[in-house]
Parts: sequence; C-alpha cells; structure tokens
Amino acid sequence: MTEKLREIYSLDSNTLFQEAQEIATTKKTIYCSPNIANGSCQTVPGCRHCKWEHMKVMKPDFNKKRTLEEIRARTQVLVEAGIDRVFLASGWMGYQVPDFYYDCISSIKENSTLDIYGLFGAINRSSLVNLKHAGMDGYLCGLETPNEELYKRFRPGGDTLTDRLTTLKTAKDIDLKIWSGFLVGLGETDEDVVVGLEILREFDPESLSILPFTPFPHTEMWAENPANPLKWARVMASARLYLKKLDLFSDQTQGFYQGYGILGGANGFYVFPEKKSLT
Ligand code: SF4
Repeated sequence: MTEKLREIYSLDSNTLFQEAQEIATTKKTIYCSPNIANGSCQTVPGCRHCKWEHMKVMKPDFNKKRTLEEIRARTQVLVEAGIDRVFLASGWMGYQVPDFYYDCISSIKENSTLDIYGLFGAINRSSLVNLKHAGMDGYLCGLETPNEELYKRFRPGGDTLTDRLTTLKTAKDIDLKIWSGFLVGLGETDEDVVVGLEILREFDPESLSILPFTPFPHTEMWAENPANPLKWARVMASARLYLKKLDLFSDQTQGFYQGYGILGGANGFYVFPEKKSLT
C-alpha cells in the first residue's frame, strides 16, 4: 500500500486537489468545537509550540479548571450554534484523567446529542473505559508528528509518541471511534508523511486532522516559519485520496489558510462559536 500512497503524494498539485475535492463533495460537512475542561497542563517542560501558552497570555483565566456549570453553559452555546461534534479538552494531566472529566462527559451527554470526543493526550486504559462509560463516543489523539526525533524537539516533556500510539490502540480495542492526525511544517520529510499516513491507516480512524504548524506569539517556537500552505494542503489531499472514507478536518476556517484547507479536501472544520448560529 505504501507504493500507492507514494504515487498519490507525487501527483501534480492540480490533479491532487481536484481529486481530493471531488471526494470532499460526497461528504457531510462537519463542524466541531472544543469544550475546555481545564486549561492547565502537567507537561514539564512545556511544549515549545504550545498554542495554549499563547492563549494564557491573551486571557489569563484560560488556565483554570472549569466548573460543571461552565461545561453545561458551553454545551448549550455549541448546541445553539449548530455544532455537530464536541471534544472535551484539557492539557495533559498525566495518564489517569481526573474523575471530574467523567462528570463533564456525562453532563455533555445529558444536555446534547453531540458526538463527544475526549482530547487529553496519552491516557491509560481505565481512563478510556470510564470516559466511554460516561458517554464518550471517540478519542482524539494526534501524533503531533510521526517522526520521533522531531517530536522530542518540540515536546521534550510529557507523553511520548509511543504513549500516544498505545492510547490510540487501546481506544480502538474498546471500540471507541478514533480521531487522529499530525501537524505539517515542523521539519518532517516526505517519507515521514508517508510513514505517518501508513501508521494512521492501521488504526482505521473515523476522522483525521492534518493541521499546519503555526508559530504563535509567546511560545518558544515563535521565531520559526509557519507551515508552507501548499505543502500542508498537499498532505491533506494525499490523506483524502488514500483514506477516502474518513472525515478530514482543517482547523483553519478563516484567513489566509482557509482556502488551502478546502483545496486539500477538508469536510470538517474547527469552529469557535459565541452565542450565534452557524447557519
Ligand atoms: S501537552 Fe503540550 S501542547 Fe498540550 S497543553 Fe500541554 S504544553 Fe501545551
């Protein structure tokens, strides 16, 4: 299969994008949004590219643990905005998630019909089982990058790439839906991309997020270049052609990168609604 993927990846951009978009037109558009349980994180040292560090500078109370009432209120906003899918998110709190997260999942389940995913980094089997019992439909765990050396360069502390792969395998074993992906633009080679998509194919993911590295202010990687948009869109389109049945997500719904996400065949989009409808 890897040869087929290499062939796809070597297509000229016009062909690649046209075919990716043809597949995207057969898919339902999906809007997803986070409901943040806790903005703090136990990863030490912190990740050098961490967008949430930027968020904490812009909005200092981003760091705090939310209350169940805040989770409920946010769920209501997402429902009213027409969101299809929510991911309950936090910084990495270790391999065992706090019990409070089970209550958050139960609350979202009781107050919506949203598809519910968890996003807490690498976690252990008992956490995944308890989250599932609370009503979680799937687990979102990105690889960040399939290249272990690169991974350690921007994520020197916290969970490892191997931990993340183990988490995905455990989630698959207990019949949770799998949502994964990786960032483009961190110095990965074309072969890293091929290896990454092959690794992900083996998990038979329900969804994939291929996202462009963005050097947010107030992070250690602030001075580095953002992902090349054409390269990012080509990786998305290759994933779209190679893994046709999944939903492909872009986190860029406005600004310069937006069109590249559509070019690459995304049918899923991250949105951050306030109190207004998407339609
Ligand atoms: S795991 Fe890394 S990227 Fe995620 S919140 Fe913690 S420091 Fe930031």
